[in-house]
Amino acid sequence: MEKREQLYEGKAKKVFATDDETLVIVSYKDDATAFDGLKKGTIAGKGVVNNRMTNMLMQLLEKRGVPTHFVKELSERETLVKKVHIVPLEVIIRNVSAGSFAKRYGVEEGIPFDEPTIEFSYKNDDLHDPLINSYHAIALHLATKEEIELIKKYAFKVNEVLKEYFLALNVKLIDFKLEFGKTAEGDLVLADEISPDTCRFWDARTGEKLDKDRFRRDLGGVEDAYKEIFHRVTGE
Ligand code: ADP
Ligand code: UDP
Repeated sequence: MEKREQLYEGKAKKVFATDDETLVIVSYKDDATAFDGLKKGTIAGKGVVNNRMTNMLMQLLEKRGVPTHFVKELSERETLVKKVHIVPLEVIIRNVSAGSFAKRYGVEEGIPFDEPTIEFSYKNDDLHDPLINSYHAIALHLATKEEIELIKKYAFKVNEVLKEYFLALNVKLIDFKLEFGKTAEGDLVLADEISPDTCRFWDARTGEKLDKDRFRRDLGGVEDAYKEIFHRVTGE
């Protein structure tokens, strides 16, 4: 398998073509952004943490019946994945109030929900990723009704698996963002990443934040938080 030209450079990752047109290589950077790209910085070692953590979690999810784009970890920062057409929706699951939910509805952070919630944002930089409901997503042909149903089913399954997995590591899974894509064969699979960039992780005993909120909110100890969550997941 040969690495070919760069297809895309995003805020946190680069995507490269390979000599197999159904596969791409994702390369994780240390670059960090927040607030719609307004805040920029670097988090030393983040690319390694996010690559390896994503791959461990995707393999766990595969075992538990959620299909993913994961194929093979190539190095600390690079992974071979199935090339997909990304469904342009950010799928957000929440177990506890935080972030934009707390702000939008004027409630404190840290209120546990009786049932997890789901919401979608339309992945569109020009429009700044607006909140969208499933009817509007279907009307805009971002996904079919059947795809939305499958996305919901997979997203709640991911939550069940990961909530339990992280609790055993003394970590509360507060909320997270998923992306799905369609493979060349037309299968819907979990894509992109699952990492401290895309999840909120709170220490179950102390409530300490072990995720990108330390960067977003200038809380300090950003690198250490990424190292700590990585340590809990990998033992390294
Ligand atoms: P952004 O585009 O938001 O800056 P990244 O820096 O993470 O985000 O860039 C990675 C890009 O690759 C994202 O647009 C993501 O949707 C896309 N992507 C993730 N997994 C795959 C895949 N398996 N095939 C094709 N594209 C993917
Ligand atoms: N999230 C993400 N990418 C985004 C927006 C949100 O990965 O573009 C994740 C974020 O890390 C958190 C969850 O989705 O785990 C919910 O984020 P929220 O809507 O509260 O937005 P934020 O507080 O980041 O503005």
